[in-house]
Amino acid sequence: MISEADAVVVGAGAFGLSTAFHLARLGVRRVALVDRFAPASQTSPRAAGLFKLLQADETRTRLARLSIQKVTGFREETGVPLEVVRSGSLMIARTPEHAAFVLEEARQSQAWGVDIQLVDGDEAHRLMPFLEAQGIRAACYTPDDVYIEEPSSLLQAYLEACRRQGVTLVPDTPVTGIRVNRGRVEGVVTRAGEIRTPIVVDAAGAWSGAVAELAGARAPIVPIRHQLYITEPIAGTTPDDPIVRVVDTAVYIRPARGGLMLGGFEPDPMPVDPRVPGFSVDDVPLDLTVLIRLAGTVARQVPALREAAVREHRGGLFTMTSD
Ligand SMILES: Cc1cc2nc3c(=O)[nH]c(=O)nc-3n(C[C@H](O)[C@H](O)[C@H](O)COP(=O)(O)OP(=O)(O)OC[C@H]3O[C@@H](n4cnc5c(N)ncnc54)[C@H](O)[C@@H]3O)c2cc1C
Repeated sequence: MISEADAVVVGAGAFGLSTAFHLARLGVRRVALVDRFAPASQTSPRAAGLFKLLQADETRTRLARLSIQKVTGFREETGVPLEVVRSGSLMIARTPEHAAFVLEEARQSQAWGVDIQLVDGDEAHRLMPFLEAQGIRAACYTPDDVYIEEPSSLLQAYLEACRRQGVTLVPDTPVTGIRVNRGRVEGVVTRAGEIRTPIVVDAAGAWSGAVAELAGARAPIVPIRHQLYITEPIAGTTPDDPIVRVVDTAVYIRPARGGLMLGGFEPDPMPVDPRVPGFSVDDVPLDLTVLIRLAGTVARQVPALREAAVREHRGGLFTMTSD
């Protein structure tokens, strides 16, 4: 194993891979990317692959725009191909309160330069034929939203981009300590030895809090379970159908593998402690009944979900802040 680096990134998920790539591209010479498991094996490949311009504040809107530019311009920037679907998205509200919320979010985002069009139920149905117009009180359409069909493809693309930039991958090597001297990082400790470095990036996902503590820092991250499913193919779906987000039940739906993907945020999500020795995201207890219940809340709007059998069910750890 290497014994010295100009920067060490801890965690080779989406964030760590991107950070390592960008550090190397910006001219940091010896970048090491260390992961306790195989790279790209934990939460990131299990995600839904959605990118969303409509955000709650201007900073996040700019970040979201940059993310979309990054993935749509991935080949130009890295030389590595990456497929991105420019489907656009619909956000729909079915209660007066949520309608007011959607209209306000749309107004704000327009002021921050996002192309957002207010549409009625009929127009929403025209854009996404699986969506029933009845019951929609307000909707907005964001034509520039995108998704990546298989999120693992983004990770494989970043892995290849990292290799081309000369990033050193150190898999199956948990970081067990961070050496700090007079407030300055000096190296990371692993079971395979120490890597001396003046820069450590904590990109450890659900384990970010644990890695921060190794340096005496605090990252108040709360990992929670988040799940989705993909149905069997459904006749008539096309990859270009817009992503749909139903505000009142925090459910999202998008085309996936010829069927539909459904995921959603539980009102009372299950916290998961990843510090248990040997824990990996494979151990997150999945529960399909949670998703079936969420699907029931939107079945009136997307009746195709009632009939379609589930082909794949997956989940991982979303990292929330404690508030
Ligand atoms: C079902 C689901 C759907 C989602 N959908 C979306 C979506 O559509 N859009 C979106 O933007 N986000 C989505 N998310 C959230 C998104 O997946 C995460 O924010 C993102 O993947 C986190 O990436 P990460 O690199 O921080 O974490 P991870 O991919 O978990 O990577 C962290 C890495 O750190 C490594 N690590 C941990 N501790 C150590 C250590 N001590 N030493 C070395 N390595 C260590 C781990 O092994 C792991 O590989 C979704 C999440 C879930 C669960």
